[in-house]
Amino acid sequence: MNELKTIFLEDDGPQSMRVYEALRRAILRSDLQPGAALQETELAGHLQVSRTPIREAIRRLNADGLVETIPYKGAFVKALSRIEVREIYETAEGLEGMAAWLAARNVAAKGSVERLQKAAQAMREAFDRGDVVARTEADTEFHAALHELADNAYLAQALARLREQVHRVRHLTARAFGGNAASLEEHEAACRAIADGDAELARRITQKHWERVRTETLSLLP
Ligand SMILES: [Zn+2]
Repeated sequence: MNELKTIFLEDDGPQSMRVYEALRRAILRSDLQPGAALQETELAGHLQVSRTPIREAIRRLNADGLVETIPYKGAFVKALSRIEVREIYETAEGLEGMAAWLAARNVAAKGSVERLQKAAQAMREAFDRGDVVARTEADTEFHAALHELADNAYLAQALARLREQVHRVRHLTARAFGGNAASLEEHEAACRAIADGDAELARRITQKHWERVRTETLSLLP
């Protein structure tokens, strides 16, 4: 709940927008856990705003599919269903695969693969040290570098939104991103294919990676 207030105070812009953004991010980061009740009076008191922007934010979060309203009970943070988890990862397979394909093609034409290689290297080092935080950071950097190489604004936008959902699933299963040896090797193989400018191979490896993560994640869910 303190996180929520920090985010709210950091943002600027119209109040109703800040309330919405703060709640949305708290849900996506699992600061507000699935099943948590969103009580208008309590949230209004916590953020020191009237109930109107809270009600408006809850209405929008409902439309986003992040919150569900149960008659006579109130609004609750929605849990991700198995179907949603499957759909999120299927989308990642397609879009991340496309990003890898574009990245390889762009590298072949002109781009430098250095940032991507550095991130892959940092991931390997963090993995060897058993440093989960550094590994997650390197993974984030790896994907940022990949998306930059893909050089497509529409795709970048879709991937940013998708990534929030992937993070939400990750919190759900308490599983570190890119956490195991297989994941590490898949990132390195994708990096090599991109460096070689082999677009088809880069796509295939990336899709297989997300397919495996999907299968593993679904097996961890009840
Ligand atoms: Zn990754």
